[in-house]
Amino acid sequence: MSGPFEALSVETLAARLGRTAALTSRIGENASAWKVREVGDGNLNLVFIVEGEKGAAVVKQALPYVRLVGDSWPLPLKRSFFEYHALTRQQARAPGSVPEIYHFDEGQALIVMEYLSPHVILRKALIEGRQLPNIATDIGLFMARTLFRGSDLSMPTKERKADLALFADNVELCDITENLVFSDPYFDAKMNRHTSPQLDGLVAELRADRDLKVEAQRMKHLFAANAETLLHGDLHSGSIMVTEAETRMIDPEFAFYGPMAFDVGMLLANFWMAFFSQRGHEHDGDRATTRVYLIDVIVDTWSIFRKEFSHLWRTERTGILYQKSLFEDQGDQLGAEQALEQMLHSIWTDMLGFAGIEIHRRILGLAHNADFETIADQDLRANCEAKVLKFGRQLVVNRRQIHSIEEVNALAILME
Ligand code: ADP
Ligand code: MG
Ligand code: MG
Ligand code: MG
Repeated sequence: MSGPFEALSVETLAARLGRTAALTSRIGENASAWKVREVGDGNLNLVFIVEGEKGAAVVKQALPYVRLVGDSWPLPLKRSFFEYHALTRQQARAPGSVPEIYHFDEGQALIVMEYLSPHVILRKALIEGRQLPNIATDIGLFMARTLFRGSDLSMPTKERKADLALFADNVELCDITENLVFSDPYFDAKMNRHTSPQLDGLVAELRADRDLKVEAQRMKHLFAANAETLLHGDLHSGSIMVTEAETRMIDPEFAFYGPMAFDVGMLLANFWMAFFSQRGHEHDGDRATTRVYLIDVIVDTWSIFRKEFSHLWRTERTGILYQKSLFEDQGDQLGAEQALEQMLHSIWTDMLGFAGIEIHRRILGLAHNADFETIADQDLRANCEAKVLKFGRQLVVNRRQIHSIEEVNALAILME
């Protein structure tokens, strides 16, 4: 397709993409027989499932504005460009962890990709109380591989600097995170909402909490200034699609170079929110095993992340940092191990800060989580939300005093 940008619709998609080889070769030449559905449930973009005689594919198209809000909030189409480039890098660094990409049209801001089926969104599965056996391993490996291999620990420095420059232009999506995540929850920003009046008192308390606000801005500074690796940038349970056997990460349009701990913290925050929301979905104690499952998933995700990151540190440290010539090549194994421990420790501490902030913004900011939103009883919902808000505050303010994932989970169990 060429010509100026034009949003696709269910009615026009077959006519407009019917001669795109990447699509016809997979789903069938006979475009008039294609069945097209729009399934986008996200906040920003259009997502179509296209089924033909031979198969199916997904077409994701950006719009020049925020879908959730409308054309009063413009947002550039180039986010599709960043999503495409992030997907290709993730595929190279963590093969099999993202949908296969068939085609990218920059002018039309559209990506044609593998239709994940029968996958469902992880968040939805967790709300239903399902226990997926592989998510901790798959997500832990994905994070370790993408975060390590996108950093100066691994990449040739010239390549990394060029890539840093490429993604630096994703300013508008970074701006969304900088404001919606790190600042808006902590004052009476225009687009905020929370369960009211139940949470009004606690919300006022958090907004008057000087230590919390100072720490949140410290985390924001780190997010904005520490360009250490290519992040997914929006790695929550709504950006992961699962079956019993498979896990795929989708939707990296927020990708940019930032701190490793950001993806890890956002992801684990969403697991903690899933944990604290279970009471709201429980009937006759039927979520007891789900809660135990979620605690195990959190422990395993962190420990698999740590283990794989350590493995890559020992076997793939080919970048400009902590070169082997300074350590192993001189017979000094311990030096490299000491540096690894330091790095994992700073990822750990920062991860807790990002996790706490992600929790706050999902309950006080613009974009809420279905985990809590689907709890119809407002008092019950507010009860779950209040508990996790206080838990989030502990993570942000006391993160330097928390030393293990077991300790955080003990706190979660106590506060839930
Ligand atoms: P947004 O950027 O608007 O949040 P997403 O990429 O998250 O868009 O996609 C929105 C929804 O579309 C997802 O929640 C999922 O249900 C569906 N979807 C997206 N990509 C795929 C895919 N490759 N296969 C199947 N469904 C998909
Ligand atoms: Mg999404
Ligand atoms: Mg979504
Ligand atoms: Mg998105």
